[in-house]
Amino acid sequence: MIETYDVIVLGVGGFGSSAMYHLARQNCRVLGIDRFHIAHDRGSSHGETRIIRKAYFEHPDYVPLLQRAYVLWDDLQRECGQTLLHKVGLFIAGKADCDSVSGTLKAARLHHLPVDQLDVGEARRRFPGYAFPEDWAVVFEADAGYLNVENCVTAHVAAACRRGANVRTGETVLAWESDGHSVVVRTDRGVYSAGRLVITPGAWAQPILNLPKAANGRPGWWDHLKVLRKVLCWFPADPVYDVDRGNSTFFFETPVGQFYGFPRLDGQTVKMAEHTGGLTVTDPLAVDRDLQPSDLPRLVEFAREFMPRLGIQPLRHAVCLYTMTPDGHFCIGRHPEWSNVAIGAGFSGHGFKFTGVLGEVLSDLVLTGQAAVPVDFLTPRKWP
Ligand SMILES: Cc1cc2nc3c(=O)[nH]c(=O)nc-3n(C[C@H](O)[C@H](O)[C@H](O)COP(=O)(O)OP(=O)(O)OC[C@H]3O[C@@H](n4cnc5c(N)ncnc54)[C@H](O)[C@@H]3O)c2cc1C
Repeated sequence: MIETYDVIVLGVGGFGSSAMYHLARQNCRVLGIDRFHIAHDRGSSHGETRIIRKAYFEHPDYVPLLQRAYVLWDDLQRECGQTLLHKVGLFIAGKADCDSVSGTLKAARLHHLPVDQLDVGEARRRFPGYAFPEDWAVVFEADAGYLNVENCVTAHVAAACRRGANVRTGETVLAWESDGHSVVVRTDRGVYSAGRLVITPGAWAQPILNLPKAANGRPGWWDHLKVLRKVLCWFPADPVYDVDRGNSTFFFETPVGQFYGFPRLDGQTVKMAEHTGGLTVTDPLAVDRDLQPSDLPRLVEFAREFMPRLGIQPLRHAVCLYTMTPDGHFCIGRHPEWSNVAIGAGFSGHGFKFTGVLGEVLSDLVLTGQAAVPVDFLTPRKWP
């Protein structure tokens, strides 16, 4: 007999775990399916930490979503009895007219968010582990900080399961079909049916969204997504970078690229990475997870110039995947053919902080077609 649910969630990573939680909060009978275990390290939601901030330089329209996101992270922390969001702040440094500095100030001004503009002397006094060029600008947001990424995924799944959701891990989805009223999902272990389907496939968006035979091989917006290999490194770090010494998360927009990282949290290392760049991945299951000699020079160059008290031989590393849209903005909405299918994809390397709020949006979209927060600007769109 086929197991039947109200809603199936395909892919239980960052967004799928949250969608499961919000659907379960709406009293739906939910099944989440994932190929790997919960909070695994093969997709996009691992590596210990993710930056969260409100004054969003990518576009001010993200700010209302972030305001809701902070409320939902608080709710989840209360529910799981664990701190997930650490408000250690964030500084963004670069030329005054660069995208990240000017965009942060614009979003803060439009949405009345408190941010501090530091002059270089003040930035050097406050963050002595960093080198700030004389003609740069530094913006500090105290409300920003970081999330413990794997713990957030686990907390969402655990809270969903406490409300009766089921989760199947180690099970790969091979096919899915919708007729607009119900869906059938086939895995390597079984067949499931439901009234609705939420698809949150991360780096596997393109193959998953091309599965239904009814789509007839027609190209979709998902064919424009590109997966990038990103390397995170933990470098040996001086106590000058300790979180207890007032260090925050950081983001540098340099003339050669954007680099970001976290304060020393483990008494030993600082995690640092490049947001720009990355090699294109054709098969996310076969991505090279070893640290290659070519992975290091840009990080080392950045460290030498801007973080002179960081060691340059990483003690450990992780490889993680960005799924990029052509314009760097997310795609969230209903399937173009079937209104009982909602999709969240193309989070372009900055999605994690939104998993709480966009899990709620996906739940609303698949149940009612209406989201409580404005997401029209993220509706899947046409690219040339
Ligand atoms: C190095 C790095 C740093 C980042 N830094 C930040 C940051 O500081 N702040 C921030 O907000 N965001 C950041 N991001 C982005 C953020 O982490 C991602 O946008 C987010 O984690 C994406 O979540 P997801 O649910 O789309 O993907 P995932 O969490 O990868 O989930 C997709 C799931 O679908 C499953 N799946 C796919 N196909 C199948 C199938 N056929 N059958 C069964 N299961 C399937 C996968 O196994 C996976 O578990 C970063 C990302 C990376 C890689």
